[in-house]
Amino acid sequence: MSEPLLHPKLGLRPAVGPRVPSSIFELSRPGTGGQKILPGDDSVLDDIPEAMRRKEPADLPEINESQVIRHFIKLSRLNYAIDTGFFPLGSCTMKYNPKFNEWAARLPGFAKLHPLAPDSTAQGTLQMLWELEQMLCEISGFEAITFHPAAGAHGELTGILMIKAYHISRGDLERVEVIVPDSSHGTNPATATMAGFTAVEIPSDDRGGVDIKALRATLSPRTAAIMLTNPSTLGLFEDQVDELLEAVHEAGALAYMDGANLNAVMGYFKPGEAGFDVMHINTHKTFSTPHGGGGPGAGPVGVGDKLLPFLPSPRILRDENGNFRLETQDERPSAIGRMRSFQGSTSVLLRAFAYIRAHGRELQQVSEDAVLNANYLKALVRHVYEIPFPRHCKHEFVASGTEMKKRTGVRTLDIAKRLLDYGFHPPTIYFPLSVDEALLMEPTETESRETLEVFADALIAIAQEAYEDPDLVRAAPHSTPVRRLDDAEAARHPDLRWRPAKGDDAPC
Ligand SMILES: *Cc1c(COP(=O)(O)O)cnc(C)c1O
Repeated sequence: MSEPLLHPKLGLRPAVGPRVPSSIFELSRPGTGGQKILPGDDSVLDDIPEAMRRKEPADLPEINESQVIRHFIKLSRLNYAIDTGFFPLGSCTMKYNPKFNEWAARLPGFAKLHPLAPDSTAQGTLQMLWELEQMLCEISGFEAITFHPAAGAHGELTGILMIKAYHISRGDLERVEVIVPDSSHGTNPATATMAGFTAVEIPSDDRGGVDIKALRATLSPRTAAIMLTNPSTLGLFEDQVDELLEAVHEAGALAYMDGANLNAVMGYFKPGEAGFDVMHINTHKTFSTPHGGGGPGAGPVGVGDKLLPFLPSPRILRDENGNFRLETQDERPSAIGRMRSFQGSTSVLLRAFAYIRAHGRELQQVSEDAVLNANYLKALVRHVYEIPFPRHCKHEFVASGTEMKKRTGVRTLDIAKRLLDYGFHPPTIYFPLSVDEALLMEPTETESRETLEVFADALIAIAQEAYEDPDLVRAAPHSTPVRRLDDAEAARHPDLRWRPAKGDDAPC
């Protein structure tokens, strides 16, 4: 294999990644190792049934302490994280996570509170959550917020179950459809289906917005709700919001806004005031919590007056003396019940609280900078990648490699793999589904102009490589610890466990 070619002007070096270290079992040498647990008196085994006793000693690695430490530190350095590099991952708002948030979340008064502590001993946490509710109401324009949902998709389910309860409470039992535009996030139709509705897709117009005519034609007495991601996963703000909401409400349906992209509009657009009935917020995206590895998130859901009675219980209340308490069971029979144990992901919510408090009125600047960065990156790469929707984007934009694929055979997947050689995490690819060979990029506000420029240079250099040496790009990555994986196989049948090779399998 030839050395990866790099554009000479760039001065970029391929990230020569560390190799995958040997497994700890392969490092094992009989007789080495730290302190051993001394064999005890055999009588300790008396209480353990014979059938459950080990016949042979466990196959544990024998290795000393410093080797153990080095081994695991080396493994940890194979990680790519927001603290080590840029993530242009679209639709996920992978922004820098301020360390201040982590400090706040570790304060023992919060971190060590027992989840079943009586309200009187949990006043600080209850106050923090109550104040966070006020702040999120201010930001979103809703009347009240529930903190139960554990992430955005769970928030969607909560919102749609409230919509279901609303229609049922009015005896309106024919509403079995939820309308989703074709640019919606995949979780939206999934949520509608999970909640027992039929998801009905409507097309976008040629500007990337909802086709209002198609919407009007689809709305009927069978429509329970529309779920609208706004700004959409094309990075576009729905500029016919008023018309859309009027049509939906006229048809007796409710409007759910997927608020995962709130990072783009804080201080500029309040969905609750605009007339949406319910929305979730991904605090781990907009308000910065490390996410992406399946770690805990939080998906608070805001509601307007129509859905207020159905909000999950218990809510956090403040009495006239300024004391905080949880709603008691049965205090509000119209509630849809609990969506999660305790009060949701409190430590994630605390990080959101710290983030919002640290920014104060400058929160609006976050959105301004996120939008500026996305538009700047788009401008830097638009001469080499097609931009299907060239109008002003919000926090993210879609590029397409259709022309490149036609002319060189290099696909978006190859571009993403080649970016790894340049030391970058690739953007989201092949999403949204409505764009061929899509690359969805969201730089976020926390990246510097220099980072965006180096990233754009890498994308441009890869485009040039595609025309000059397509095989190089198609065979990427060249410099990562493992080469190209079978993505489907890696996701469905991950091989995560090392087993000693025995018998015929043992390497000679
Ligand atoms: C991330 C995202 C979701 C799902 O949120 P999770 O917190 O990952 O469950 C839903 N909709 C959109 C538009 C998103 O970007």
